[in-house]
Amino acid sequence: MVRKVSIGVLGIQGAISEHIASMEAALKETNTSGKVFVANHKEKMTDIDALIIPGGESTTISRVLHKSDLYNIISERIKENNLPIMGTCTGCVILSKELSDNVKDVKLLNAMDMQVERNAFGRQKESFEKPIDIQGFSSPYNAVFIRAPIIKKVWGKCKVLAKIDKKIVMARQDNTLAVSFHPELTSDLRIHKYFLDMV
Ligand code: GLN
Repeated sequence: MVRKVSIGVLGIQGAISEHIASMEAALKETNTSGKVFVANHKEKMTDIDALIIPGGESTTISRVLHKSDLYNIISERIKENNLPIMGTCTGCVILSKELSDNVKDVKLLNAMDMQVERNAFGRQKESFEKPIDIQGFSSPYNAVFIRAPIIKKVWGKCKVLAKIDKKIVMARQDNTLAVSFHPELTSDLRIHKYFLDMV
């Protein structure tokens, strides 16, 4: 049977079109047939096999998720364990179970056994690019960090995939992937392909 996948990119904020372009290129290069589209309301959400949550601002994204019915739809599918999700930057924050600053205005999806610290490398002007080693990748990956979070600790089923010094910047739990940087802003498609393999 020919594999056909529908991948939604949460359409609230952030580099939505860049994620769509990267995932479309990943589909093409892996000869996978499928479609990638903006998922921003209920009808689109029910149609997806996988979801990407882009970067942006965690307070804004979580507020919009909550005000719409999207939070409940995504949570339900996480509970049934049938929705592969990749969260990048803010997406990584939203997938976590705990925030180190404990703010109450960011409602988390509680999908991964991890605690996240927001803006852990400082402000916008402290944004940077750095080659990092990722478990399973045969050569370093040039990662773009923009006001990036870090994963402060993991427990349970959550596994660390990459670190900068002692700071965790990529982790996986079953079919959920958290990336603290922006894979959609480089031409290296390995992270989108890695996620595609999880779908
Ligand atoms: N610092 C932002 C947050 O708290 C994330 C920034 C980004 O996604 N580039 O969500």
